[in-house]
Amino acid sequence: MSHLFYQGRTRKPVLAQARGVYMWDEGGKRYLDGSSGAMVCNIGHSNEAVLEAMRRQMEKSTFGYRLHFETEASERLAARTVEKTPVGLNKVFFVSGGSEAVESAMKLARQHAIATGREQRWKVISRSPSYHGCTLGALAVTGYATLTQPFAPMMREMPKIPAPRAYLDGLDPTDPATGDHYADMLEDCIAREGAASVLAFLMEPVGGASTGALVPPTGYMKRIRQICDRHDIILIMDEVMTGAGRTGAFLGADHWGVTPDIVVLSKGFAAGYAPLGAIVASDAIVDPVLDAGGFAHGFTYAGNPLACAAGHAVLEEIDRLGLIKNAARMGDRLRARLDGLMERHEIIGDVRGKGLLLAFEFMADRVSKRPLPKEYDAYLRFVEIAYEKGLIVYARRTRDGVEGDHILVCPPLTVTNTHLDEIIEVLDQSLQQFTA
Ligand code: PMP
Repeated sequence: MSHLFYQGRTRKPVLAQARGVYMWDEGGKRYLDGSSGAMVCNIGHSNEAVLEAMRRQMEKSTFGYRLHFETEASERLAARTVEKTPVGLNKVFFVSGGSEAVESAMKLARQHAIATGREQRWKVISRSPSYHGCTLGALAVTGYATLTQPFAPMMREMPKIPAPRAYLDGLDPTDPATGDHYADMLEDCIAREGAASVLAFLMEPVGGASTGALVPPTGYMKRIRQICDRHDIILIMDEVMTGAGRTGAFLGADHWGVTPDIVVLSKGFAAGYAPLGAIVASDAIVDPVLDAGGFAHGFTYAGNPLACAAGHAVLEEIDRLGLIKNAARMGDRLRARLDGLMERHEIIGDVRGKGLLLAFEFMADRVSKRPLPKEYDAYLRFVEIAYEKGLIVYARRTRDGVEGDHILVCPPLTVTNTHLDEIIEVLDQSLQQFTA
């Protein structure tokens, strides 16, 4: 009998081993990790260089409390992270995961407002649908009704604007007017809330689990940056899923040449080798906070040397193996092949994404964009079919978490053409079985 409890009652097979893009259960069955866990294991499993760096760190020290010591591992990782992120983002703060990082970004923004005499600013506008984490602070800025509603009385919910979903609204995502249309919603929300009370705007550059890899329409990102500048609002970019090369650039925001004030990293940052997250912020945000007495926030494991050593080795491997370029190249190929599946399978209503953050959405009807009936639980059923056939994919619901089933296909950035063949073959068979 197990004493663990997670989400449901169904027990999963026990993981025995993982190497590269493959994982094996105790019974010897092999799975292709087509979702990199939850878009985490970007450099594949059991990378020897990372394991060796972790072994070396373990011999030195596994823990040094941040109020007692700096560690070489955290200094090195901070320096490497600053090199990789846009010019001007020079200050790094480490945590142990995505939700912690999102909360840290919001609290840094708030402390910056206090340190600069703008105490009245506290609202963090975010978008719906969105996912920013499961702790109460991160949930307050998450737009995913089924996850947030039960906890509504326990948190102070923040204002939300619709995330751009041009394909559902019948708009052309390549038309700059579409980008303006959605960015105007931020402008309107700021006017409604009163600019003097708005602290920050939080968004993912490419929507992850909540929207199923939706890419923003032309012009949107630049307009968002301009609006934040005009109203002196801090732009926080949640790159937990998109960061560390997943979309074919180090940050998702890099595709649009937009520099956020605070970047939130986790998942692919240490690629599953250790629990690690970070916020990377500009001097302009951090310095006033330090001058006013320091960042009053922190977790026991912040800057953990073992996690930082893993993160540093992961960034080195991303460069050494050319994984960002590979994500762009393989992402284009996989995207084209998912488009091919859509031609053969009527049930796929949309294919989208950037780099190796890709998804397809099931629809009952492509023209009206009607979703499958929610009772059908298509996303769960499809995942089970693919899992049976040895392919792991990730699934969620796009429309308020209630319907709009989508499947994320996000293998490690190390995938080759042979792996893509295998992924497409299993998806094709699974779609046949699913619609039979
Ligand atoms: N932000 C985004 C965009 C995410 O995708 C996630 C996790 N899916 C989080 C935050 C929360 O990260 P964690 O689960 O590590 O707390």
